[in-house]
Amino acid sequence: MGAKYEVRGNIAVVTLDNPPVNGLGYDTRREFAAGIEKAEGDAAIAAIVITGAGKAFSGGADIREFGSPKAVAEPNLLTLIRQLDNCTKPVVAAVHTVCMGGGLELALGAHYRVAAPGTNVALPEVKIGLIPGAGGTQRLPRVLGVETALNMIVSGEPVKSELLASLPGQKLFDQVVTGDLLEGACAYAAAKGAEHAGGAKPLPTGAGGMGKPLPRVRDMKVSHPNADAYLQFARNMVKGMARNFPAPPKCVDAVEASLKMPFDAGMLAEREIFLALMLTPECKALRHAFFAERAASKIPDVPEETTQRKVEKLAVIGAGTMGGGITMNFLNAGIPVTMLEMKQEALDRGLATIRKNYEAQVKKGKLKQDKLEQRMSLLSTTLSYDDIKGADMVIEAVFEDMGVKEKVFRTLDEVMKPGAILATNTSTLDVDRIASFTKRAQDVIGTHFFSPANVMKLLEVVRGKATAKDVLATVMALAKKIRKTAVVSGVCDGFIGNRMIEQYSRQAGFLLEEGCTPQQVDKAIEKWGMAMGPFRMGDLAGNDIGWAIRKRRYVEKPHMRYSKTADLLCELGRYGQKTSAGWYDYQPGKRDAIPSPVVNEMLEKHRAELGITPRKIGDEEIVHRLVYALVNEGAKIVEEGIASKASDLDVVYLTGYGFPLHRGGPMCYADTVGMFNVVQAMKKFAANPRDDAEFWKPAPLLARLAAEGKSFS
Ligand code: NAD
Repeated sequence: MGAKYEVRGNIAVVTLDNPPVNGLGYDTRREFAAGIEKAEGDAAIAAIVITGAGKAFSGGADIREFGSPKAVAEPNLLTLIRQLDNCTKPVVAAVHTVCMGGGLELALGAHYRVAAPGTNVALPEVKIGLIPGAGGTQRLPRVLGVETALNMIVSGEPVKSELLASLPGQKLFDQVVTGDLLEGACAYAAAKGAEHAGGAKPLPTGAGGMGKPLPRVRDMKVSHPNADAYLQFARNMVKGMARNFPAPPKCVDAVEASLKMPFDAGMLAEREIFLALMLTPECKALRHAFFAERAASKIPDVPEETTQRKVEKLAVIGAGTMGGGITMNFLNAGIPVTMLEMKQEALDRGLATIRKNYEAQVKKGKLKQDKLEQRMSLLSTTLSYDDIKGADMVIEAVFEDMGVKEKVFRTLDEVMKPGAILATNTSTLDVDRIASFTKRAQDVIGTHFFSPANVMKLLEVVRGKATAKDVLATVMALAKKIRKTAVVSGVCDGFIGNRMIEQYSRQAGFLLEEGCTPQQVDKAIEKWGMAMGPFRMGDLAGNDIGWAIRKRRYVEKPHMRYSKTADLLCELGRYGQKTSAGWYDYQPGKRDAIPSPVVNEMLEKHRAELGITPRKIGDEEIVHRLVYALVNEGAKIVEEGIASKASDLDVVYLTGYGFPLHRGGPMCYADTVGMFNVVQAMKKFAANPRDDAEFWKPAPLLARLAAEGKSFS
């Protein structure tokens, strides 16, 4: 796989050919360079068309080579672009479908560009914490003007080719080809070949060629009528948006270089910025998150080519909070669902909630009315198992009670057709036990959606000890279809996310006992980047949910010390936003968390009963105790094989728990801080008499990595 060479009349066509998106990997670059050289050396060739095979012109760098020596081996992308720049025959880039990142930078090296309508054009490097590094920041302003180019570079978002081609004065596209792109491009190239005939040399060293000089983007002028004022304005705007990320303001610096420096100096400035960004922890975190998400779908012992079961018809048991949200995901993906309940009222309520959610989307302009009706038409309801027995998959979302789940799964085992996938949405119960209620444990799996299930991206796919590989492969593929980020977890209490959060919550409770207020803890961790601190989160989710879980959990684990503060809060009936009182006070209909004198008094009383003299605790200690609690439990999860890799835990936290993206997830953060430092901090916490020395015993994996100077990655 690399690049293809063919001749059409007197036109050479060099086609990038590296599925799925013609990433500019080493072999592709090498064969592309050879193709251009061959065309240039062939006297019968008048002009060259470069294009991409299949579903893209090019999506840019080949991410499979990221970080490897191959990624930068010669000929690198800059060399290819220079080769096009200096080519003595006209080069026409024929772009279609996807023209992004290095792909767009390559096209900008051509003398002319023609585009199919609908092409997604973008420089998305900012999304992984970088700026374009092969001239994108210097060439795009020259063809689109400073403002449009900067918008595209700072946002990283794709813009359609026809829209760009319609901008007044633009020089990005010379033509939009509505018919056959290659035919159109070859015809255009033939005309340009004739125009520049006679061995044209590119500008400005036009000497030597007899034909019309070839236009090069690098030689184009770029200007702005109020450059300094505009750049200042852009900097202010970007600073507000960029928050914790260094790359967006650097995009402005790089584009400024295109305006104020000669081309080659601008290229050097771009390179310097690119290399400096590459080393920032934020860029590392973003790249980590990007690759971790892709890696999450790869399961070591389930090959990608594993045959999948067909899932064309779905059933959902329980039309409550989760059942309704889960159902919406499938309706959105065009998969018909039958919801089953015990009572008609429950069905009516569930149905009405789904419709109401869709209507809210219509009101916001996010969904068309006809789409709403189309989705609702895929939904049917029933009180009888007879109506769901033909479903290819059923997801159970009934009460969190083993007795209720047992009844449901025994019935499913009796009625469902052979081979149907039986999934449970349980958040705390043992999936293997649930599977044991059937005679087909191989077909049983956990699909742990997060609330609200129609919104949250994360899906924990719980693999039971008997779950068949094809069932796992099918559910992972289905997750993609309904646009979820799926992470596989083994069976354990709380799976990955909630098992880790339990330790985080325990630390949050200890911090209160030792002297913190809820607002102090929330503020510290939110300033660090978490979307919401543990106490605001508790108030939003309902403190009674954790209360019920603790009643069960700590009976089963009496050795595990935890702070009783959250129980005391619930005993006061302070369940959170739903009761207008929790860790904070709430005014009716509002969500602003107001510090509560009642809670402060409750905490003071509790400390006095425990004989604790409160101490002042700094933000850094708060943050590290909360985050390292996640890290230590995470290390146990990895070591036990509940997760197949540490990066899966990061994906869970980034997509399901509001963990700050610029920190890359808890395990990535530990790697950034260094395992030695994490363990040192844990030793310090263990020495605190109010804290729990047992709690801070480093997980064996963590201790080993620290001793060996290694990291999770
Ligand atoms: P819910 O109380 O809102 O809904 C449960 C529904 O199941 C009710 O409508 C009830 O009538 C119905 N039901 C009960 N027994 C039934 C039976 N035998 N047959 C058919 N229908 C039956 O509960 P929920 O919050 O939607 O939770 C459902 C499941 O999802 C639980 O296992 C829960 O642990 C899990 N879960 C909940 C959340 C959450 O945040 N709510 C998140 C993840 C997972």
